[in-house]
Amino acid sequence: MTDATPRRFTGDTLVIASHNPGKVREIADLLGPYVKHFPSCIEIGLPEPEETGDSFIANAELKARAAAAGGHIALADDSGLVVPALGGDPGIYSARWAGPARDFRAAMERVERGLAGVADRSARFVCALSLAWPDGHVETVEGRVDGTLVWPPRGQRGFGYDPVFKPDGFDITFGEMDPEAKHRISHRADAFRQLVERCFR
Ligand code: IMP
Repeated sequence: MTDATPRRFTGDTLVIASHNPGKVREIADLLGPYVKHFPSCIEIGLPEPEETGDSFIANAELKARAAAAGGHIALADDSGLVVPALGGDPGIYSARWAGPARDFRAAMERVERGLAGVADRSARFVCALSLAWPDGHVETVEGRVDGTLVWPPRGQRGFGYDPVFKPDGFDITFGEMDPEAKHRISHRADAFRQLVERCFR
C-alpha cells in the first residue's frame, strides 16, 4: 500500500508496464521531463500478468509489481468507466465488455440497456496509476472525471466509451471533444498530476 510519506522516483529508467504502444508513447510524453529511458515490457521481454484484482488500484499494482520484478522501477495503469446505477459496472471489466472484437458500440448498448427506466445517469472514468520498485514498494494514485451518460452516442473522436460520456460542465461528449481538451480534464490527467506531485517533482 501507499505510505503517508511518498517514496520519490530516482534514477533515469522507468519501465512502462503496458503492451499497448500508444499508451507507452503517451506516458513517455507525460513523464519525459523526469525520466531519460522508457524501456517497454515488450522490449525487456516481460510477460503481461492476468488482471485478477478486484479494483483498478489492485490491478494497477499487480501489473506494476510484476514489471518491477525485472529490476527497474515500473509504472502501470488501469482504467475504466464506473456507472453507479449499474453497481459500478462495467468498472474493471470495461475492456472486457467490448469482447475480443473490441466492439465498443455493443458495450455502450449494454450500458444503455442497463439504464432503461433509471433516473441516475451519472458516471465517472477512473484511472489508477501505480509506481512499483524492485523491493516491492508501491506508490499508487487514483484519478477521476465525473459526468453523465447520453444516448445515442455522439462524436467520432476518442475511443472506448467516449461517445456516451459527457463530462460535468460541458455540453459535448468526450467523443466530440478536441483531444487536447479531453487530455486536460480526463481521469488520466488527474492521476498523472497526482503522481507527478507525489513522486516526480
Ligand atoms: P485498460 O487499458 O485495461 O485500462 O482498459 C481500459 C478500458 O476502459 C478501455 O478499453 C476503455 O474501454 C475504457 N476506458 C478507459 N479510459 C477511457 C477513456 O478515456 N475513454 C473511453 N474509454 C476509456
